[in-house]
Amino acid sequence: MPLVKYNDPVLYQKTEPVDMGDDNAKARVDLAAALIIEMLKHKGLGLSANQMGVPQSVFALRRNKPITVFNPYVLRASKEDESFWEGCLTFPGLYMMLKRPVWIEVQYQNVSGGTVNEKLEGMDARVFMHEMHHMKGEIFFHKKPSWLKLRRALDKCPKGEEYAPFIREYWVKTMGFDF
Ligand SMILES: [Zn+2]
Repeated sequence: MPLVKYNDPVLYQKTEPVDMGDDNAKARVDLAAALIIEMLKHKGLGLSANQMGVPQSVFALRRNKPITVFNPYVLRASKEDESFWEGCLTFPGLYMMLKRPVWIEVQYQNVSGGTVNEKLEGMDARVFMHEMHHMKGEIFFHKKPSWLKLRRALDKCPKGEEYAPFIREYWVKTMGFDF
């Protein structure tokens, strides 16, 4: 399963909860494996199922050992933010400095249906929050930066001019104003 293109509508709709029943176990294992393989192939830190055209609430994370996260929730987030560079496999080459919480507390299910509670910090928290945007049908530049910041990032990006009209249209649609 390759990655879908940045303008595929599947990226801009909310994902559906994954069926964690035994009947769906094989499909979950297959999807988890496909996500991990594709994430590692592109050297990503995370990859959501809708980036591969599957509108379900699941994503892969690259930690010491790659994992998959099903039906995730963020239970608590720190009030304190920190800024760092962030990219997205759907927009290769585009990097933006974005604010994210310093820590988050999350709950999700692993591939076999067990419930996991975790406190994440730093880059682990950042990647998790990035993937949560994908679950909502949003993209990492949604709302966060100013147009000027986004414009500067696009100027530095080799494919920036290809994305620019699309991203501009996305901002107008999601934020309701032109600039
Ligand atoms: Zn992404």
